[in-house]
Amino acid sequence: MAESKGKQLEKKLGYTKRNYFEVASEQEKKAMFEYAEGYKQFLDNGKTERESAREAVKIAKEHGFTEHKLGEKFKKGDKKYYVNRDRSVILVSVGALPLEQDGLYILASHIDAPRIDLKQVPLYEDSGMAFFKSHYYGGIKKYQWTAIPLALHGVVTLSSGKTIDIVIGEKDSDPVFYINDLLPHLGKEQMAKTMSQAISGEQLNIVVGALPYPDDEVKERIKLTVLQHINEVYGMTESDFVSAELSVVPAMKAKDVGFDRALIAAYGHDDRVCSYPALTAICHANSQHTVVAMLVDKEEIGSESVSGMQSRIFEDIMSEISDSLGCDFRKVRSVSKCLSGDVTAAYDPNFGEAYEKLNSAMLSCGTAMCKFTGSGGKSGSNDATAEFVGFVRKKFNQEGVVWQTAELGKVDYGGGGTVAKFTARLNIDTVDIGVPVISMHSPYEVVSKADLYSMYKAYLAFIK
Ligand code: MN
Ligand code: MN
Repeated sequence: MAESKGKQLEKKLGYTKRNYFEVASEQEKKAMFEYAEGYKQFLDNGKTERESAREAVKIAKEHGFTEHKLGEKFKKGDKKYYVNRDRSVILVSVGALPLEQDGLYILASHIDAPRIDLKQVPLYEDSGMAFFKSHYYGGIKKYQWTAIPLALHGVVTLSSGKTIDIVIGEKDSDPVFYINDLLPHLGKEQMAKTMSQAISGEQLNIVVGALPYPDDEVKERIKLTVLQHINEVYGMTESDFVSAELSVVPAMKAKDVGFDRALIAAYGHDDRVCSYPALTAICHANSQHTVVAMLVDKEEIGSESVSGMQSRIFEDIMSEISDSLGCDFRKVRSVSKCLSGDVTAAYDPNFGEAYEKLNSAMLSCGTAMCKFTGSGGKSGSNDATAEFVGFVRKKFNQEGVVWQTAELGKVDYGGGGTVAKFTARLNIDTVDIGVPVISMHSPYEVVSKADLYSMYKAYLAFIK
């Protein structure tokens, strides 16, 4: 039966979001599920920015990228990667189009994720247990991190100057680490507290041992057993924690969710669910544009530090590209374009009151473009120009990307920021785009395979 006139007009004039699973061909659905397998590997192999950076370099090398050294010249056709202090990575693919007119095509996303870091003097014992004191990193709901299996990841620079890697808790045969919670039987007072107060920052103490060293002369015998162990295995002493970056992260692997396996649960989708598509897009595309993929650190704490988006290194590399090709960097960046890839909140019917449905990212409706983020009256937001959003929108639609527009939650309910404002500050047109996430910043977040694949397709369309 033919569609009614009104129905046709409605279709032509209205804006509706489409479920990507519903509109994808069988072949495309198959591609989504296959792509998700590589992504899950990427997640399991990298739970800190250093591990994700290493994994990204490994994949880039497999696609012909070679290392860039500061000061070296870029030339057309180059595929290069630059690693900044093991914590962030810049990938560059130099295209044939004239840089001063075409600009750089930038894909920026972050590889750090909320977690629990150790303090620099972490080890103590109390009442039959040895613990690590911790200081959480990024915006977490602290109560979610108790009573779950945790793995210890990170690096220690020993007194000799040598830096060693530590990963414990990921193999089936490994022990895990643990943060205690109070039993409900005695939890009357705790349960009456607000969720933000139920577990305090100083209660996030990590259980690391319980075996006393067999010597009555020693006061802290369990602590000594732990020190003896880490000395035997890693050559560490207690003072080596001073020059360490050690974190505990959920000791859980990425898994499909649901009977139909349409969703993925994992630690750290934010923001590897955008970093992995950025990485694979620059690896797979043979773009005529000059593409720069920035996998950055420290987004979760404001893009600070030597490895965060505010570090000059990103500007330095971009100006090196310009200089190498005999271009004026100021001109180049004025025509450059950036997709700031970061996750957004997926509308969750269980918490519907936090969202304004018309402008929320709907699960499986594709990657979500956010013209602005921020909080309150768009405070702290990069409000992209209508023209640039229009430019990106046109590209996506030309390439058949299933995507949606979105805003993070209800006005005045909170908000969030991304790296977008830092590229925009350089006079580079920037807009946020990212995968909708369920239970964002929890130890085990959920995304849709359709949205993951849409993110990859969106990046490919942008740099085509
Ligand atoms: Mn993020
Ligand atoms: Mn985040």
